[in-house]
Amino acid sequence: MNSTETWFADLLGQHGVALTPLQLQQFQTYYELLVEWNEKMNLTGITEREAVYEKHFYDSVTLSFFMNMDEIAAMADIGSGAGFPSLPLKICFPHLKVTIVDSLNKRIQFLQHVVTSLSLSDVTCVHGRAEDIGRLPAHRDAYDLVTARAVARLSGLNELCLPFARKGGVFAAMKGADPAEETQEAKRSLSELKGKLSNIHHLKLPFEQSDRHIIVIDKLAATPAKYPRKAGLPLKQPIL
Ligand code: SAM
Repeated sequence: MNSTETWFADLLGQHGVALTPLQLQQFQTYYELLVEWNEKMNLTGITEREAVYEKHFYDSVTLSFFMNMDEIAAMADIGSGAGFPSLPLKICFPHLKVTIVDSLNKRIQFLQHVVTSLSLSDVTCVHGRAEDIGRLPAHRDAYDLVTARAVARLSGLNELCLPFARKGGVFAAMKGADPAEETQEAKRSLSELKGKLSNIHHLKLPFEQSDRHIIVIDKLAATPAKYPRKAGLPLKQPIL
């Protein structure tokens, strides 16, 4: 193991996430593909190994510190970009059935390539806007867990993500700085989309020490027929 893998495995181990040599190898291949494809397309501004492991891989897995992943069967990751948080979670928790939605086809092609290269099963990469995909019966009110990291402010994000969560399921929005203000601003969209704020978890990244927050929202009932609105509207004209 190199020094990056050592601290990564140690820190996750302290949170009960024990990685096998195969899983560490999958993270390494993921890192190499990320850096290689990033030269041809815009996937991330972070390419240094330590930083990718801390700010992308470790950060993605922090969700599992606050949630029992054994209780999650199907998860959807909305606006996954280069695969965060869903692919690091899938590597650590292979039982997850993952659906990734992103509106940029090039990123979906990258993700598909990562999934094949890492021999990950039960990962479906869907090219499309969340507003359209969230209306399809296969994806609507369907998932135990819906995630979104660094996609939009919560007032708009609720309309993109909550339609995917089943009644009794959870939407986890992964945020940087203190989201108190945007959570306040998102009250109306929460109730319109049948969500209820359950918790806001705070953590710090281990080396950079920057703040992270995970907003956990319970889905109380099926999505009302009028949501999500036409593609573009949820972020341009959020429900306020
Ligand atoms: N979640 C990743 C992360 O944490 O690094 C990527 C964040 S990136 C800033 C936002 C991603 O959301 C982009 O890949 C973009 O294509 C996607 N996106 C934005 N609006 C979307 C929409 N309406 N439906 C689906 N994907 C969307």
